[in-house]
Amino acid sequence: MWLFRRFRRNKILRENPLADTAWREVLADHPILAGLAEEEEGRLRELAVLFLHEKIYEPVQGLGLTEPMRLVIAVQCCLPVMNLGQDWLDGWRTVIAYPGAFVRKREQFDSSGVMHEWEEAVSGEAWKLGPLILSWADVEASGWGDGYNVAIHEIAHKLDLLNGEVDGFPPLHRGMSAKAWNQAFSAAFDDFNRRLDAGAATEIDPYAAEAPGEFFAVLSEYFFELPGLVFAEYPEVYRQLAAFYRQDPLARMERVRVANPPAEG
Ligand SMILES: [Zn+2]
Repeated sequence: MWLFRRFRRNKILRENPLADTAWREVLADHPILAGLAEEEEGRLRELAVLFLHEKIYEPVQGLGLTEPMRLVIAVQCCLPVMNLGQDWLDGWRTVIAYPGAFVRKREQFDSSGVMHEWEEAVSGEAWKLGPLILSWADVEASGWGDGYNVAIHEIAHKLDLLNGEVDGFPPLHRGMSAKAWNQAFSAAFDDFNRRLDAGAATEIDPYAAEAPGEFFAVLSEYFFELPGLVFAEYPEVYRQLAAFYRQDPLARMERVRVANPPAEG
């Protein structure tokens, strides 16, 4: 099975080469892709080609989805699994792209049993075994190194869903400790909620406090976009995310910083 998949993937890669110019452009346009080691960049490029080949893009509401736009989505979705492999994106095929935020009906019973309904604008959704849904405007606003990344957020939910619900507990690798993961994340989640309740300032999006699953997805965005912030605020969470994603974005950014020292005035 493994050999067959490998063979098929090599064939897809051979038959669907990605132009160097297109690849250079997407790298140059996304600061969070700076500092990748050569072999990492090669892996990310292969994953993006496979993603473009295997996922079905469905633009809706009149969105014109060009080849460069498809590549931008593919690269941002593949970055979290760059060192995990394409299998982690298995089990679903469709990427639905809206031009901007889209409206979802929400309903909830309150404590007295009354049903409340309201509409909410969302920038992305991830369904178990179902589509990945993204707002293109939000994908365009992602990847700048400012902490916001809708594609990484929704892919984090997809990885979390691989072993059940969106609960902030994705399948961990051999050698990782479920206890250490739970300790790091619950302590950080509780602390974050306490700080918000106390009105303390934080650079992390308060949406992370909604639920443990959202905390994992939002912290994953910051891990790739602003790793220094995660490391400064919750170093144990940074270590767990680095072990899970098998990446060290902080070291990447440090390499970029050393290679491009600020001009002295
Ligand atoms: Zn979410």
